[in-house]
Amino acid sequence: RRHFDVQAVRRDFPILQERVNGRPLVWLDNAATTQKPQAVIDRLAYFYAHENSNIHRAAHELAARATDAYEGARNKVARFLGASSPEEIVFVRGATEAINLVAQSWGRQNVREGDEIIVSHLEHHANIVPWQMLAAEKGAKLRVIPVDDSGQVRLDEYQKLLSDRTRIVSVTQVSNALGTIVPVREIVEMGHRAGAKVLIDGAQAVSHLRVNVRALDADFYVFSGHKIFGPTGIGVVYGKREVLEQTQPWQGGGNMIQDVTFEKTVYHGAPARFEAGTGNIADAVGLGAALDYLERLGLENVAAYEHDLLEYATSLLRPIPGLRLIGTASEKTSVLSFVLQGYQTEEVGKALNQEGIAVRSGHHCAQPILRRFGVEATVRPSLAFYNTCEEVELLAKVVNRLARARN
Ligand code: PMP
Repeated sequence: RRHFDVQAVRRDFPILQERVNGRPLVWLDNAATTQKPQAVIDRLAYFYAHENSNIHRAAHELAARATDAYEGARNKVARFLGASSPEEIVFVRGATEAINLVAQSWGRQNVREGDEIIVSHLEHHANIVPWQMLAAEKGAKLRVIPVDDSGQVRLDEYQKLLSDRTRIVSVTQVSNALGTIVPVREIVEMGHRAGAKVLIDGAQAVSHLRVNVRALDADFYVFSGHKIFGPTGIGVVYGKREVLEQTQPWQGGGNMIQDVTFEKTVYHGAPARFEAGTGNIADAVGLGAALDYLERLGLENVAAYEHDLLEYATSLLRPIPGLRLIGTASEKTSVLSFVLQGYQTEEVGKALNQEGIAVRSGHHCAQPILRRFGVEATVRPSLAFYNTCEEVELLAKVVNRLARARN
């Protein structure tokens, strides 16, 4: 295993030098959003200083630069995901907009009364609500794959839910609330055998695992730029070319048309038909820089380092008196979710903030899965490759101190 130089990596992230309450910032809220390397910050500034223009429409130099930068970013995303072509990549605002796009375009076109949509019990609200809205509009039914006590989806129960009524299966690859890594290859294969399309929500996966959408054979794969060290306001829908080409657009406007008269509009093919209006050009370019950065580090190196750090953190937290870890699947990444006896989760979050440690405490936009484990909220430290053993030790030390005060 290659040595991972975490101190060198940390120097790439200026914000990690911040102090909070007089202490060095310990950023353990990576599942909510990740910090940005200097390379991304510089790329954004470079775009606005040297390339800024609207794209595609004008025949001047800056339009060409901006278009090259934007389409270059699309190429990078395609390569990063192992897509067959950049035409399978649609830029959107984030994973939320991505799922809404699929539900409102492919979904409205293909889901009918009596059809079924399958999600898992682990889903983020972003992968529940858009399907509920579609189901309500169409008279379709939302079915839910249950999880076992470790927080892993039950493939045997999934098999029972699949039928010729199943139109689409939409499941997360990694749970944002528990960190469970879901066996999405099997999910896709089983869904396809039933004749359904499958969407994988990669929001929590792409920064931790190597993803290849072709090997996965997913029809749709979505993620957010801000959770993979890129800017906010940019995200991705990957769609198989033949699926995208058969899907009607979602929003109408400029950029997505070939020809408009008052009688009739002819749309572009994918991806342009799904990118109405002026998109988030600079942040797409910033996302491209983030993917370059991550590829330079090597996702495999990152994954190995994070795996060890998660095991270490788990070994430190587990023995703390009164601490209950939720989500104990054997396949996990990044996330530790827990409640502490005698404390509201918010109190724990505030006490950690006093020490400069940022964690999320709350329902993590995934209320159904927390309620499955009988809680309304957890404390959720979540790791990235720039976190260190010392940071995890400090976390455990503070939680231990709280625990001993009341347990
Ligand atoms: N899905 C999962 C699994 C997530 O963790 C998140 C963000 N917490 C989303 C979807 C939604 O992403 P965004 O808020 O960036 O649109």
